[in-house]
Parts: sequence; C-alpha cells; structure tokens
Amino acid sequence: MLNFFPNAYPDEDFGSIVYRYFKLSGNPYMMEIMYKLFQVKTVRNRFILPKNLLTLLNNIPGKHSYSLDRIVKEHSYLPLMKPFYTDNEFNNIIEDIGMTKGRIVIGSDQLKHMISNQVRYCPICLLEDYEKFGESYVHRIHQYKFVLVCPNHHTYLISSCPMCQQPFLYHNRRLLGTPYCSNKHYLPSFAKHSLYNSALEKLIHQVADDTKFIIHNEKYIYIELIRQRYLEYALKKGYFSPNGLMQKNKSLIKDFLDSFSIENLEVLGIKINQIHRKFAQIYLNLQGNHYNILIHILLMIYFSGSVSNFLNKKIIDTEPFIPFGRGPWECLNELCSKNKQKSIVVCQRYSFRDVIYGTFKCENCGYTYTRKCNRGTLQNMDGIHVKDKGWLWERKEEEIFKLYESKIQQAQKVNKRNRILDKKIQIPERNSFAWISLLFQVYSNVKSYKETARILRTTEIHVKKILIRHQKKVAPFNKSESVKNIV
Ligand SMILES: [Zn+2]
Ligand SMILES: [Zn+2]
Ligand SMILES: [Zn+2]
Repeated sequence: MLNFFPNAYPDEDFGSIVYRYFKLSGNPYMMEIMYKLFQVKTVRNRFILPKNLLTLLNNIPGKHSYSLDRIVKEHSYLPLMKPFYTDNEFNNIIEDIGMTKGRIVIGSDQLKHMISNQVRYCPICLLEDYEKFGESYVHRIHQYKFVLVCPNHHTYLISSCPMCQQPFLYHNRRLLGTPYCSNKHYLPSFAKHSLYNSALEKLIHQVADDTKFIIHNEKYIYIELIRQRYLEYALKKGYFSPNGLMQKNKSLIKDFLDSFSIENLEVLGIKINQIHRKFAQIYLNLQGNHYNILIHILLMIYFSGSVSNFLNKKIIDTEPFIPFGRGPWECLNELCSKNKQKSIVVCQRYSFRDVIYGTFKCENCGYTYTRKCNRGTLQNMDGIHVKDKGWLWERKEEEIFKLYESKIQQAQKVNKRNRILDKKIQIPERNSFAWISLLFQVYSNVKSYKETARILRTTEIHVKKILIRHQKKVAPFNKSESVKNIV
C-alpha cells in the first residue's frame, strides 16, 4: 500500500500525475518509483500507453476516484484512437493496460508517432493552472503532435523556454510546476496568440479543436459510423464506386492536396508519402493500417469543414447522394404477393463508364430488374430492365402455356399467315402476364408468328422467343419433334 497518491487535474497527462508523485515522494530514484507503482523495471515514465494500472489502483490508499476506465478516458491518449478501433481491438488494449500479459499487441506503436517527444505547454494554461490549483501540470491535449495551439486559449504551444531554449522533457526531470522555466523566465510573457489570418492558421485551429472534439465525444463516435459517413461523402464526390470499390484514388489525393496544400500539411506533420496509392482504400474503408488519426481529421475537414459537421450531418442530407437511395425497394412483379411493396433489401450497384447500375432481386419471387443512374449527377435515368422474371412468374406462365400447348404445337407445324378479321381486342400492357397469356391464345388461333406479332403490336422474333422458351422446357420429353418445330 502506498502512503498517498496525488489527485489528478483536469485533462492531466497520466505521466504528469506519476511525475508529481515522484517529486512528492522524496525518492530520488525514478526506477524505484516505477517499480513501486507498477512493478515494472523501467525509468521511462512517458506513458504513451500505461501498463499494469491495476497494480497501482490496488495500492492507492483510502477513498479515491481513480479507476481503470477513468484513467484511460481522462488521462491517457487513447480516447482519440478509440473511435477508430473495433470494440474487440479496444477491449484487448484496455485489458493489457490493466494487467500486462507481455508485449502490447496494438496501440502503443500507433500512438507513439502521434505524441510529441518533448513535453509541450500552453503558456496561459501554465499560469491559469498555477493560480487555480497551486501548481502547473502537463495537459494531455497539448501532447498530440498535430495540436499546435491550445484549443482553450488559441496560443501556440511551447516545448522549450523561448528565452534560454531549455527543453521540457520527462527524463530531465524538469517538468514545470510553476509558470517559470528553471532559469526563472516567466513563460506566460512569451504567449503568442494565433490570429486567424492565413489558411494555415485556420487549419491549425480546426485540427486542435477537432482533436478536442473527438476526445470529448469518443463514446458517441464508433468505427461503423465513421465508415458509413465516409461512404456517403465519397459517393457524393464520386470517389467510391457504388459497389464499395475505390475508383478514384487519384482524384481524391489530388483534391485533398489541393484543398490543404502540401506545405500546410507538412507543418502539421504529414509526409507526402503517407498519401499513397492505397490512400482512399485504407482510410475511407478503415481497413489495414489506417491509424494516422490526423489524416482522418483532415479527411473529415476536407469533406465537411469539421469533424463534428462530418459526423453530425443528418443522414437525410446525404440520402439522395446514394445511388437509388438506401432502400428497401419495390418488387415489380405483378404476380408476386409482395408486388409494389418495399420488400427488396439488397441493391447490387456497379458502374460502367458514366452509368451506375442497380440490380434489385425479390427474394419472394425471384423477379430481378435493373435501373440506371447517372454517375456524375446520381440522378436516376428512365427505364427499368427486367433481367429475370423469376421462378413464380415462370411457373404461372408455364401453367397458362399448358392450356394452349397442343394447339400451339400444331400451329407451329403450319405457321403460315392466317389473317383473321380484326376484332377489337383489348391489348394489355406489353410483357405483362395478361399480355403473354393473350399471346398464347392468339397464336393458337391465328397459327402465325407474324400475325400474332401484328395483333399484339410486337415483333415476330419476340413472339417466337416466348413460344420457344416453353418449347425448350418440354424438349426432354419429345426431343426430335420439338427441335423440328423450332427450326
Ligand atoms: Zn491554454
Ligand atoms: Zn528559460
Ligand atoms: Zn416479388
């Protein structure tokens, strides 16, 4: 059991809490302190990812408000990462932080490149904290490399004294407990406020604000939401093909770089080789090594101006931009019990040249049709193409055919034009079930493809095709005759 353990300050970096304990303990050996707290033999107390926290938690005396969950949420760097992990990945990391089983599987490497090596302070926070709490401390939010200004004061962060250049580092044991450097230079006097003059300054602010936004809202943001939003925005911009494949990585990269400029991205720490051949695929799909959170923040800013806009925009706003919408879609089979009902839940989308095709298949009857929309405008184009009428239709059509079958077979042997007097026949809608029934009936009477076609206002070939379709089905029973009939 420890004698004491200091309470944490708001947004205090976990390493800073341990550092304050170390200073207060009077023990000059950091290694001993680390072993005492975590049972690890290391002097490194830059907690990119804490370890063995349960050991510490079990040894803090008296009543306290520390818990594994709270340390992770309020004092570790993980909340910025959390929305980009699956629940499973994140739970594994949390387990490991509680009681290390050995090497950390994920998390540590992905965080390391985001956290500044030198400790950074906001000169105004140094002063305010000192006045409020009696000491200054290290803020977590200031340590992300791409956070260059304090989101609360809009002042540039410093990682060394601007006067004597003395760097702030954990391992030189000269973290600041007051707003003075160890050479007694008063740091708030060096506070440099940012003016929103240039695109770069605006971007720096936006990134700082958005980083804070994610940390504060991590419990509402999850990987599926982000993936869904990327899909919507990428579809809108035409980077995604509607079947989910990346089509336009090059144009995304070009637009992204044009939007921010390579120089400005470099200021934030983006290297141009991080935006590569598979950029869109990895980041928009959140697959593979997509853990550079700055890139996500920038993509969201690019798409929507800010992370909160990107995530909060209502689905309704983006609905028309998904080709054919989100469904469900109607079954168009007049014979189906689900006709005109929105019973089709899956739409297969693919694109070719300037057109996106959507295929809709009713699970109830097998009726399958395709629709088209313009890839650029995502406006639906006229016309529906029936790809397959499905098993239900075919079965019923076959039943009707059977009624006229023998007559039709006989007629096909003759198939000469046998013009009958035009009675006024009501012709149903072309290709409807009633129309096809009528076709059988008319043909068995007039005994001519040509005449049937004239009456039904279609082509001879079409009549022949429909009749032969049924002839083929009976073929196995009386092959030689049916072949003769067709030819
Ligand atoms: Zn500040
Ligand atoms: Zn100094
Ligand atoms: Zn159906």
